[in-house]
Amino acid sequence: MLLELKNVSLSLKRDGKYVKILDEISLQVNKGETVGIVGESGCGKSMTALSIMRLLPEKAKLEGGILLEKEEISSYSKRKLEKIRGDKMAMIFQDPLTSLNPLHTVGRQIEETLILHTDLNKEQRKKRVIELLNEVGLPRADEIASDYPHQLSGGMRQRIMIAVAMACNPSLLICDEPTTALDVTVQAQILDLMNHLKDVNEMGIIMITHDLGVVAEVCDRVIVMYAGKIVEQAEIKELFINPKHPYTKGLLDSIPKLAMKKTKLGSIPGMVPSPDKMPKGCRFYERCSSAMEICREKTPPMNLVGEEHLAACWLFEEKEGEANASSRNKG
Ligand code: SF4
Ligand code: MG
Repeated sequence: MLLELKNVSLSLKRDGKYVKILDEISLQVNKGETVGIVGESGCGKSMTALSIMRLLPEKAKLEGGILLEKEEISSYSKRKLEKIRGDKMAMIFQDPLTSLNPLHTVGRQIEETLILHTDLNKEQRKKRVIELLNEVGLPRADEIASDYPHQLSGGMRQRIMIAVAMACNPSLLICDEPTTALDVTVQAQILDLMNHLKDVNEMGIIMITHDLGVVAEVCDRVIVMYAGKIVEQAEIKELFINPKHPYTKGLLDSIPKLAMKKTKLGSIPGMVPSPDKMPKGCRFYERCSSAMEICREKTPPMNLVGEEHLAACWLFEEKEGEANASSRNKG
């Protein structure tokens, strides 16, 4: 296993008091696997990613275990973390313009990662920059290396970000809405590129998105989040064909099947509850058409509902003993 989160909770300080943003998140990512995290905005997808990278505000309270290649990294010092960020794990964001430095050429920005994380000498670095630009599908790498971010298109800039992320062959790549800002054809090219890089480098990828078309395109497994909790997880086909949780069903039902690629999530009536006003039972209660009395009172546990398929909903209460047969801890 490449990455494991064990009961990770995150609280942030808001107006002088701590508010729980993530509640007991447990998940795994294997080598060579792309795991999608989906849900409406404000569900905790990005916060899960930032917790793994530990790019959190000063007073954030992070609990639980985060294991990267079997090493517990949640207690790492800032310095130790900086070393593995970029080296073992890297992240790319929605808008490459905000992540790239407008004053430096893109070649220099890729090289900076190499300076930080490798022993390559100047000549070797120059060579590696060109290699990386080729790997991410940018032709005329020599010319592009001396371009500034604003001279490139959105799709090219995202390729540069991928090159920066790939500079040290990370074992884990976290992508937060990497194609949202791009038009559809460029989107498809970037997703192709990510699939290719995953296969070649045996990376694990976490793909955060609110676009089920993206999920269908690249993910092996999907995690559905709602209001700071995981509510369902399954292999990609299983989730699309046989969704169990009413929230997941809502997400899937809200998109016309043929137009899936163009449609965004989020047409379930009502709103995600705010973290400082979490209801005590099921967090989806107010919006759920299958809600029962127990749902208002008690938080539903995660139940095994199929092969490698888990859902946190009282409709699927497990019979005693079955939980142990869970196959959630796959390789
Ligand atoms: Fe709906 Fe109850 Fe399931 Fe929550 S636990 S999703 S309210 S049926
Ligand atoms: Mg987000």
